[in-house]
Amino acid sequence: MAQNWTADSWRGFEGRHLPVYPDAEKLNEVEKTLTSFPPLVFAGEARALKADLAQVAAGKGFLLQGGDCAESFAEFHPNNIRDTFRVLLQMAVVLTFASKQPVVKVGRMAGQFAKPRSSPVEKIGDVELPSYLGDNINGIDFTAESRIPDPERMLRAYSQAAATLNLLRAFAGGGYANLRQVHQWTLDHIGKSPWATKFRETADKIGEALDFMEACGVDPRTVPQLQGTSFYTSHEALLLAYEEAMTRQDSLTGEWYDTSAHMLWIGDRTRFEGSAHVEYLRGVNNPIGMKCGPSLSVDALLRMLDTLNPSREAGRMTLISRFGHDKVEAGLAPLVRAVKREGHPVVWSCDPMHGNVIKADNGYKTRPFDRILTEVKGFFAVHRAEGTHAGGIHIEMTGQDVTECTGGAVAITQEGLADRYHTHCDPRLNAAQSIELAFLLAEALNA
Ligand code: PEP
Ligand code: MN
Repeated sequence: MAQNWTADSWRGFEGRHLPVYPDAEKLNEVEKTLTSFPPLVFAGEARALKADLAQVAAGKGFLLQGGDCAESFAEFHPNNIRDTFRVLLQMAVVLTFASKQPVVKVGRMAGQFAKPRSSPVEKIGDVELPSYLGDNINGIDFTAESRIPDPERMLRAYSQAAATLNLLRAFAGGGYANLRQVHQWTLDHIGKSPWATKFRETADKIGEALDFMEACGVDPRTVPQLQGTSFYTSHEALLLAYEEAMTRQDSLTGEWYDTSAHMLWIGDRTRFEGSAHVEYLRGVNNPIGMKCGPSLSVDALLRMLDTLNPSREAGRMTLISRFGHDKVEAGLAPLVRAVKREGHPVVWSCDPMHGNVIKADNGYKTRPFDRILTEVKGFFAVHRAEGTHAGGIHIEMTGQDVTECTGGAVAITQEGLADRYHTHCDPRLNAAQSIELAFLLAEALNA
């Protein structure tokens, strides 16, 4: 059990990127209400994910984590949940088939609402307003009223997370994720992509392998891994009032868990020493991620690992590097080397999104597909050189046919960005680009 920790001890530390609510009484009421609500996940599930991640840390598996940059109330629709889930499954199938290793699937879903912003204000023309901070805090509409933090948004976020998780559980266990369905998962959106044929070929091979097993007398109905899949949820633990209200003591072990998701991560902007976010996360027993960007020194990383995982439990820590395509090789290598030297069991995962944002000539925030791929390849190169396991990938993606990242085989151009640019925050890979990345990643895994 963490020393001198309580679910609210973070309140005595420096909290960056936290909203200031004008109505403290209303905030208090919402917190009380949330505290009385059922947990969204069970501690035993968080432990199961930790055990899966411990395998990945030992080099026996791969972590696939992905979803929206920011979930929104406006895009809340069963088809969106289904399509993102389906693309993640398709990516996992491609990766499992190529690497012959289990793929641990974690959605940036069912709770990924709050956003750290590079500026506290947004200016359009002569009008300056507070920035949009995520649908669980304020509204995206560019009006003074919508930008006021409203605690009641947390209740709506909770209910959206609960409904999303419910559908994800139903898909994962109710037959949709049955490996026999792999052909049915083909999405219209990837029909146009040259990778669609490649996916159908993989699906054919899986079908043949299942036929062969059945002919040998293995009844797939008796193999739970073929009938369904494990699927976990995660988000950035940014809005600490919400996370605190969702913190519960596990009746089986007496340990504390953040029951808003299976896995929580600390962002690159809130992982400093003395941070309220670090203080909160050190005391909950979920698997924890930490973003590692160019400003993180070796010493700071090692101190952070000692704070967040003093007992060096495998599966507890996932380090998510996000350097940028041209900085990853030089920046990541010293961190990987030091963590290995100190014997910390971590999962190294690559976020090739957040270091590769550029502004297109027409003003859209975008990410070129080739830079994303270059960062992934650099990440693999570092781990190959250091003799460590390139353990995972963390991406912003959607199952929809959006036009937010340029490039890929579908060749989205800067001019094309305006067609279907729907994200509430950062640009996401669309369905075709996500599948393409999985195939290219599979090549890197086998290199
Ligand atoms: C994010 O994952 O959406 C994010 C804000 O990333 P980072 O903390 O790495 O900037
Ligand atoms: Mn983002």
